[in-house]
Amino acid sequence: MASLLTIDVALREILGRVNPLASEAVSIESAAGRVLARDARAAVDLPPFPSSAMDGFAVRAADTPGSLVVVDRIAAGLPASRELGDGEAMAIATGGVVPAGADAVIPIEYVVQHDNSIEIDNRTEAGAHVRPRGGDLGAGDVVVPAGTLLRPAEIGALAAAGLGEVECAVRPRAAVVTTGTELRRPGAPLEPGQIYEANGVMLAAALASAGAAVVPPASAADDEPAHRAALERGLEADVLVTSGGVSVGPHDLVRKIEAELGVTEVFWKVAMKPGKPLSFGVRGKTLVFGLPGNPVSALVCFELFVRPTLLALQGARTPGPVFARGELAASVRRNPERDELLRARSRDEGGRVLLEPLVGQESHMIARAAAADALVLAARGEGELAAGTTVSYLPLR
Ligand code: AMP
Ligand code: MG
Repeated sequence: MASLLTIDVALREILGRVNPLASEAVSIESAAGRVLARDARAAVDLPPFPSSAMDGFAVRAADTPGSLVVVDRIAAGLPASRELGDGEAMAIATGGVVPAGADAVIPIEYVVQHDNSIEIDNRTEAGAHVRPRGGDLGAGDVVVPAGTLLRPAEIGALAAAGLGEVECAVRPRAAVVTTGTELRRPGAPLEPGQIYEANGVMLAAALASAGAAVVPPASAADDEPAHRAALERGLEADVLVTSGGVSVGPHDLVRKIEAELGVTEVFWKVAMKPGKPLSFGVRGKTLVFGLPGNPVSALVCFELFVRPTLLALQGARTPGPVFARGELAASVRRNPERDELLRARSRDEGGRVLLEPLVGQESHMIARAAAADALVLAARGEGELAAGTTVSYLPLR
């Protein structure tokens, strides 16, 4: 048997053929899940003015302890009308502008309030409970660097720094073609021998979660004209992902029809389980993945190869897959020929991540796989990996 490509080599073959896409301006409201194409720099100091961290009174630290006259009340968004003088205090809300002349805020719970004055029993430090202007970030500083996948915290930071628009990689256009005469749309009645189509919707959801603009999945029966029509259309996208039809059976037509349509195959088959029949090719700018039909195989191949490709197309700094380290909670038998990716549940035990392989590791068991939050990499080899062995795993959420 010719030796199969390893996962690492396959990934290198794929990522070596990725040309990052162009960028476009995206409004901050729609930027979540996109990859930043250029360093985003703050439009203003953050905070833009010295602001109060507490509800309380703006004072001069040098006037404390003591009795001070309350000369103004400052709400958030409405600066004081004048400077704070000697022996004076101004009531201030959290986020209010600390007035010129004041250098500290006393929280409301530490003062005794009279009608128009307050008593402060203790000495306070200059700067107490004042958020200095620019304390988080200065105007012009990088808020989020290029190549970052924008999650909620980054969106918040960009918005706080005054950026209504950011430059992001354009979304890769992705097409999905599922193959199999046996497939029916979920919800329709099943005839004998039929099963519900799961990969199309699953892959579309996975592609969208990786930033792609997904064309609604097409489904092709196991005949050449149906394959030709669906694949021809799918090849117009930046990334075409097919499911099924890449094994060695007489109805496995995907690679044959793709070759006829001008796809150059880069590799077929990887030394992994599940996912061995994975194929990868290119036609012009289109990257073409042939995922196996078993839903768990399709999902594993997606996480290992397709998601990193989509992120790389968008210029992500770390397209992944990014493996973490954890300990096996139970022993697993190794496969002498192929690296196995075991569906597992992770749990934290006193700072250690324990990985419990799920019962039911067969590649059609998508319902069981849905309970997994980790793919454990059990490297190929003889014998077994004992409980407690440190292994790499790919977090799934
Ligand atoms: P194949 O790779 O075409 O030989 O398919 C392998 C297994 O996966 C077969 O049992 C198929 O019925 C099943 N399968 C293929 N495509 C899908 C799909 N889109 N949804 C659910 N199961 C599928
Ligand atoms: Mg099939």
